[in-house]
Amino acid sequence: MSRGRSAAAFRADVDDWAGRLRVRPREVHIRRMTRKWASCSTAGRLTFSRDLLREDPLFRQAVIVHELLHLRLPNHGKLFRSLMNAYSPGWSSLTQGSLGPNAPGRCTGISRLCPARSDIDLG
Ligand SMILES: [Zn+2]
Repeated sequence: MSRGRSAAAFRADVDDWAGRLRVRPREVHIRRMTRKWASCSTAGRLTFSRDLLREDPLFRQAVIVHELLHLRLPNHGKLFRSLMNAYSPGWSSLTQGSLGPNAPGRCTGISRLCPARSDIDLG
């Protein structure tokens, strides 16, 4: 028995959050990703790691909100972080360090979550 989320339910969560955040991802993909939890292309294509389906719901939500917010803001600046605080309180503690039995050694810090954007000033 799995307590994980189905891919269909995950997509429904993404749709739900997209409505709340007033963004419209062009495509949403769920696939095997080993180094990242998710990615967002400048064309509005979001890709989420299949492993998220088995992660803690709050962590899953933080990743969904994080990626959707990138459709509005390309970086992790002050505004990005205040929106994260508004929509997904506690995200920063959830995304510090390694998390979950499904992710041994996989750092979930913001720079690992979005390595392509880790050059952007987080301060
Ligand atoms: Zn990011």
